[in-house]
Amino acid sequence: MTLRGAGHSCDGQTVTAGELLVTYAPDAAAAQVRDLGQGLFEVPAGMSWHRLERYLHHRGRAAPVLPNYLHMSVGGTLSVGGAGVDSARYGMQVDHVERIQLIDGTGSSRWCSRHDHPELFRFALGGLGMVGLIERVVLRTLPHHRYIHVHHARHATLTELAEHTEQIAQRDDVDIYRASLRRGRLASITGWRSSESTRCHAEKCMTLPNLPLAGDIDVAETHAPASDQVQLWTDYVVPAGRFAPMLAAVEALLHREPLNRVHMMLYILILRRPLDATPFAFIPVRTAPVSIGLGVYTSFDKDPAVAAAIRAVFRGLLERCCDLGGRPYLYGANDLDDSLANRLYGAELVRLAQLRSSHRLEHVNAHLPLVRAARVADPGAKRHPQDWEYEGAGNRPI
Ligand SMILES: Cc1cc2nc3c(=O)[nH]c(=O)nc-3n(C[C@H](O)[C@H](O)[C@H](O)COP(=O)(O)OP(=O)(O)OC[C@H]3O[C@@H](n4cnc5c(N)ncnc54)[C@H](O)[C@@H]3O)c2cc1C
Repeated sequence: MTLRGAGHSCDGQTVTAGELLVTYAPDAAAAQVRDLGQGLFEVPAGMSWHRLERYLHHRGRAAPVLPNYLHMSVGGTLSVGGAGVDSARYGMQVDHVERIQLIDGTGSSRWCSRHDHPELFRFALGGLGMVGLIERVVLRTLPHHRYIHVHHARHATLTELAEHTEQIAQRDDVDIYRASLRRGRLASITGWRSSESTRCHAEKCMTLPNLPLAGDIDVAETHAPASDQVQLWTDYVVPAGRFAPMLAAVEALLHREPLNRVHMMLYILILRRPLDATPFAFIPVRTAPVSIGLGVYTSFDKDPAVAAAIRAVFRGLLERCCDLGGRPYLYGANDLDDSLANRLYGAELVRLAQLRSSHRLEHVNAHLPLVRAARVADPGAKRHPQDWEYEGAGNRPI
């Protein structure tokens, strides 16, 4: 059985020839939201961020962090981590989850939090549905600020952009940040949320209303790609202080085959997590208090040779990211073989295999590379028929 929210992860995570359980119900879900008081809201996992944010704004509240595209499910985004322009102050979306209702492989459900079933909580958020189905979520919210005061900047080179981003990452007075390379233009925005419309004397200062529902800083291509188009996206997250070499690794490839032949965009976010953040097992931030994410988004006409060449480029970048102490964002296209998975997640993989076994989840999302790596990492784990497909007929388990 494969679990799917809105199906926006980019590497077949929610594609299956078997049974599919789709939770995305953006329109039906609003009636099921419960205001628990003290800024806490209980939300069905199938709701979209768009509907939730509208609901919250009507009550003077807002999610601390939103993705730049809002028509994705709450449960699906929390199952990868969730980041956005507000991550510069508030870290990842999973950092603002009070508790989750998780259903295991027998159909039993339990509430998990930092105090109740803390290990399931730590593996479920950012965990690609590998330890069960998130059915409901209790989120912490913030007062909604109507305005955002934004400084736009242009950058002449990627080196300059890397320096600028590192400087902003050192500041703790910034509410929002993002930078991008798009259509040859290098630009960044730095911003501060406010209840009033204010201006300052900085050049390129603007006050924008009610982001992100207004869409002013929405950079995602919101339309589905045409059927003859492929989108291969991925993000690498490295600790602050190590961003320049990561960006340099991408820059070295920009004007060479195959990246020079495809439409490409780079997207950069700062992630400053709370000091007491939970060490979620598989989110892209390891332990660094401040990290910088680099999204590499390619789109091109369907061509297996180009796709293979892009994947080879991504694999090299993933190795570089690991060398720099970073991690990939698991919603994207990352060729994780068992040894790289082991290098990245080590003992968490063994524990993942044990949790899946004890909660009877062997049949759920079993196609994911991390699940396979977990079975290999845990010597006590039962082999799964899908391992044979991966290992080939000549390499059957004994
Ligand atoms: C246009 C676009 C813009 C994006 N922008 C951002 C962004 O700004 N910030 C960001 O962080 N990410 C962004 N992403 C990535 C996005 O967060 C992930 O693709 C996320 O998975 C999308 O949610 P979904 O509902 O589509 O999840 P799906 O792709 O459906 O599922 C993702 C994973 O979670 C599992 N899953 C789904 N629902 C549940 C559930 N209820 N319980 C347990 N497991 C579940 C699935 O099995 C799968 O492994 C973007 C992606 C796209 C395509």
